[in-house]
Amino acid sequence: MAETEHDNAVIVGWENHPFYQNVVHILERAGQTVDLDFNVFERLCRPRRCLYVSVPVRMDDGTIRVFDGFRVHHNTTLGPAKGGIRYHPEVNLAETAALAMLMTLKNSLVRLPLGGGKGGIRCDPGLLSRREKQSLTRRFTSEIFTFIGPDKDIPAPDIGTDQQTMAWVMDTYSSQVGYAVPGVVTGKPIEIGGSLGRVDATGRGVVYTIIEASKRLGMALDQSTTVAVQGFGNVGFHSARLISNIGCKLVAASDVSGGVYSPKGLDIIALQKWIAEHRVLKGYPEGEYVTNEELLELPVDILIPAALGNQITTKNVDKIKCKILAEGANGPTTLEASQILSSRGVFTIPDILANAGGVIVSYFEWVQGMQNFFWSEKDVNNKLWEIIAGAFNRTYEFHSTKKIDMRLSAFAVSVEHLSKAMLWRGFFP
Ligand code: GLU
Repeated sequence: MAETEHDNAVIVGWENHPFYQNVVHILERAGQTVDLDFNVFERLCRPRRCLYVSVPVRMDDGTIRVFDGFRVHHNTTLGPAKGGIRYHPEVNLAETAALAMLMTLKNSLVRLPLGGGKGGIRCDPGLLSRREKQSLTRRFTSEIFTFIGPDKDIPAPDIGTDQQTMAWVMDTYSSQVGYAVPGVVTGKPIEIGGSLGRVDATGRGVVYTIIEASKRLGMALDQSTTVAVQGFGNVGFHSARLISNIGCKLVAASDVSGGVYSPKGLDIIALQKWIAEHRVLKGYPEGEYVTNEELLELPVDILIPAALGNQITTKNVDKIKCKILAEGANGPTTLEASQILSSRGVFTIPDILANAGGVIVSYFEWVQGMQNFFWSEKDVNNKLWEIIAGAFNRTYEFHSTKKIDMRLSAFAVSVEHLSKAMLWRGFFP
């Protein structure tokens, strides 16, 4: 067995985890700007409850492998826990708990009646067959069955999971209760109660917040505006597609295999076709090859990190040249790096604001499912615009009045709302 397979990285405490500590640190700093009650802070810098599960799967070669899975409820003051399920080799309890904390703050910032949760399985989905992924998902769902439910905790897709994964979760849960329960997950296929507009909602939200930012900054969004997108998963692809659709020039894109850069502009449809045929971007004939690190350092107007966390740190922050940083990913920038960017005049649209479109439309999906009344795509997109622009404006106003950067402002606006709710309920929800 490889050393990394049995070290304590899987169940490591969040006390020593840099990503977890970064989120706590932002919360602490933001809390100071709104005189956050210390008891509320003490409660929020820990998750409410965490579930660890081991998930045995019979692999295609007949052997059994056991995977480590997690589901965390960070806070449920505002409503049921809500957040995605991530399949990735680096998933562990601390990362899942930090991502759950970000969900609490995201949902509170955009004023959804939802708490924050997150789940994950430590695995490499790219190395699993469809059958293995199905077994893994169904067994994981059985193990977390008592933890989830339409009134308790509602999972959704995240890195490495998609609408098929959600369909398996919904089916396994429904089989156990004996009838269809569409409200137990969001991000489902349309045919089993998904919402129109959910698939591209996160990317759409990223672009809507960029439009709001450009109005405030007096910046044009046209063919002279250059954009680089890191990551070509659901968030990266739809952000790239929609930002191209509004007339900006996509000059760089990347996936796990690396990226391409073409100052003349990239054709999003051709990129998509290449990936459909070759699985990865590497080898794309137009433009020059760049690594994922180099992509972040390109001279562009708008940079959209839409892959993993911890991409912009004190190590590379001095090389970042964008004017707007729109965080499609969760936690792509450390607090220190973010403060340096802000002092240099880079305008950041922080993760809990920029990528909130996904959970906003998840909320619409959940509401539509509960009411059995489904909306048109136009209605979904209009309502998404209304909610995310409202959150952008609240954050922007607080940032201008208090003279604090956009990240601290978003966390402050969010935690102020949440702490009022916690104090009404009496600390213990
Ligand atoms: N995984 C997405 C996020 O990080 C969506 C969560 C959801 O829709 O519940 O925001």
